[in-house]
Amino acid sequence: MMRTYKFRIYPSKRLQETIEEHLNICRYLYNYLLEQKTKNPKLNKGDTQKLITEHKKENPELKKVHSKVLQIINNKLWGSLKALGKLKQNGHKVGRLRFKSSKNHYKTIEYNQSGFKVDYKTKRLKLSKIGEIHIKLHRKIKGVIKGIIIKKEPTGKWFAFFQVEEEPKPLPKTNKVVGIDLGIDGYAIDSEGNKFENPKFIAKTLGKIKKVQKNLSKKVRGSNNYKKTKLKLIKVYDKLNNQKNDFLHKLSRYYINNYDKIVIEDLNIKSMIENKKGQKTLNRHILDGSWKKFINLLLYKAEGADREVILINPAYTSKKCSNCGCVVDSLKLSNRLFFCPNCGWNIDRDYNASLNILKSGLGESVVPAEGRPLLRVIPYIKVISGQVSPMSQEAPSVREG
Ligand SMILES: [Zn+2]
Repeated sequence: MMRTYKFRIYPSKRLQETIEEHLNICRYLYNYLLEQKTKNPKLNKGDTQKLITEHKKENPELKKVHSKVLQIINNKLWGSLKALGKLKQNGHKVGRLRFKSSKNHYKTIEYNQSGFKVDYKTKRLKLSKIGEIHIKLHRKIKGVIKGIIIKKEPTGKWFAFFQVEEEPKPLPKTNKVVGIDLGIDGYAIDSEGNKFENPKFIAKTLGKIKKVQKNLSKKVRGSNNYKKTKLKLIKVYDKLNNQKNDFLHKLSRYYINNYDKIVIEDLNIKSMIENKKGQKTLNRHILDGSWKKFINLLLYKAEGADREVILINPAYTSKKCSNCGCVVDSLKLSNRLFFCPNCGWNIDRDYNASLNILKSGLGESVVPAEGRPLLRVIPYIKVISGQVSPMSQEAPSVREG
């Protein structure tokens, strides 16, 4: 099982220059190989591989970069060619593979199998032909590091991405299943009656983003002030992302630890339905992105953990009565309560949806708790500090519905 770990690295000024130089050489080689392949379309992957060795003689600059790193460039090129070919096959109009003409088009250095070493004692990452870089190892790696990717992010921070081969670690069975509805009123509401509050920092940071964006629009493009404000904007987005990721990691961990089966809506289908309804607000856009990320985290964490994530078609999940199955069309978005004129069922609408989601995922009928369910509202701060445990009999703090 392959896992990716992201660590912050702190290359010195001198090392940053070395890495930038390596990036330039890699980009040059990529373009050179693409040029050769364009001139002579008959070349195969092995041929372009050989070209690297030959070209090294003419251009000794290439020897400054670890040989395995250069080899990977050939893989990259052929990966792109293959992807392009596939698009063509599927009837898409695609041009030729482009040359990487600017620095911005080539941002990563990849080590595979060799040329790197992690020293846990001195907290240093040793990269062949680059040097030793201080690394913040904020978590333990339990597995074999297969490769390392070095990248500078738009904020100016450097990172190392470790590809790690890990043994699967199945979690003990809990014999519990859960359906989750991702909402706007609360971030998530589940069939057990947990309502996870929307993380408030999103709204807060969004306000900041709007302010900086407005500021940016007043600056002259390309001016120093423009660049400064742009970097500020990138940094606010970065902060939002980090906060969001922390929240999503912990929330997904909660579900993976406590349930064998997790049923959730397939957002690809959902957004297809909703995109027809017009423009999204920035807030909605960010929420959408975070839901996708949340589901991806669930899928990622379920792998090897003996957990199952079931994605279901979201049609009717919010309109159907989870008690009698009758479809109620008169429901407005502003109605927080679901009321069924057929059976008199009257509950929180997102909770109703989560019960439908669970039913749909298990392909069987689910009998909801008798009478009005007790919901407990969980503040996001509890999620971040890892204080959430599954609902026990006496736990509910808020009565709703
Ligand atoms: Zn009903």
